[in-house]
Amino acid sequence: MEASASSNVHDVLSVRGFLTQFGETTLSDFQINSKDEELQAFSKYMDIPVEDVAELANVCSPETLKCGHEPIDRYTLLTRVPDDIELTSVRLQKREAERRKDTVYRNFAQRKMKYKNFDGRLLPEANVDNQIPDEVRVTYPDVILLVYVHKPYYHTQGVTRQILKIDHGFLVLGSQKLSDLRDRIRCVNDLAVPGDHSENPDSPVQYYAKDIFKSGFFFIEDTFYNDFREPDSVDYSHCIREWAKDPARKLGPYQNKVMEETSFVDLNIKLGHPYVYQHQGDCEHLIVFSDLRLLDRDDCQDVREYPKLIKRMLRRRTECRSCLTHSARWLVYNSEMAPENPCYFCDPCFKALHYDKNMAKIGTFEAFKYFDSHAIV
Ligand SMILES: [Zn+2]
Ligand SMILES: [Zn+2]
Repeated sequence: MEASASSNVHDVLSVRGFLTQFGETTLSDFQINSKDEELQAFSKYMDIPVEDVAELANVCSPETLKCGHEPIDRYTLLTRVPDDIELTSVRLQKREAERRKDTVYRNFAQRKMKYKNFDGRLLPEANVDNQIPDEVRVTYPDVILLVYVHKPYYHTQGVTRQILKIDHGFLVLGSQKLSDLRDRIRCVNDLAVPGDHSENPDSPVQYYAKDIFKSGFFFIEDTFYNDFREPDSVDYSHCIREWAKDPARKLGPYQNKVMEETSFVDLNIKLGHPYVYQHQGDCEHLIVFSDLRLLDRDDCQDVREYPKLIKRMLRRRTECRSCLTHSARWLVYNSEMAPENPCYFCDPCFKALHYDKNMAKIGTFEAFKYFDSHAIV
């Protein structure tokens, strides 16, 4: 964490200032419902006659670049290959698209890709704009922020270098609350099941960590935004702010605000600058605002889709160390049957190796239910 005053990489950007400068002073004229209103708006903004705007629109229209046979959207463009083209590259593209319909081949191919953390299944779907009810349509003017959430950072002694990896990329609207983003972030630590279950492995799961430890905060610039939606939430940032008060540290002062009362448009940010999301006590995720722009009509117009997941790291499942086939479901400590400590087992292997025919525990070990991050969407 770094005090904003000590950094001069580039200026802090007010999201509301951006919206005011580019959204309300210029694009407010473009809240239009028909072609005529659009021409009138452009005419007023450019201070030229409507006829000239119409001619310009005609001459400069992207339609003039088309041949009449283009796919209507990106999804169609990437999935339909024309039959009447003899180019080798097109033929290979078509063959690859066919082969990737097979799940095994697609997973293999994606692991080999240079940009393997891109999940192609998140491509935008065909436009269904007309089916969106008015009450859940986006309102103009607004901004869109691209936010990258990284995988949890673990403080490990002896490790001098740890590569930070992007886990999710979201598009959020400026009008949305920070808590809306928090609710969309998926972390395997939220699904941890507390406690040793070795005495009774078939006992049903009653609580996940997210049901017990509900607190969390975002740290953006010089402010902690704490989630206080639950009555038993605690202020995780309190001890950090107290620690930072020591003048010798030359940090802060830091502010404390409420996550669910703060919209993204209220933020001051630096694009590309690392900030923090912390939950489950000490599970830290680095977050980065990568882009800030105005919302336009090519974006998804349904508020319910936001924060919209647009990028997701492909995950490799954790295999059972015994059969090397099934996904791990148990994390076992101090097992005499395990090649390493701790060790991952699938459910059948875990029970076969650690219990007798009456399901009585053999030996002394601790077993924790394990949820593979591969299993979370
Ligand atoms: Zn986490
Ligand atoms: Zn197994």
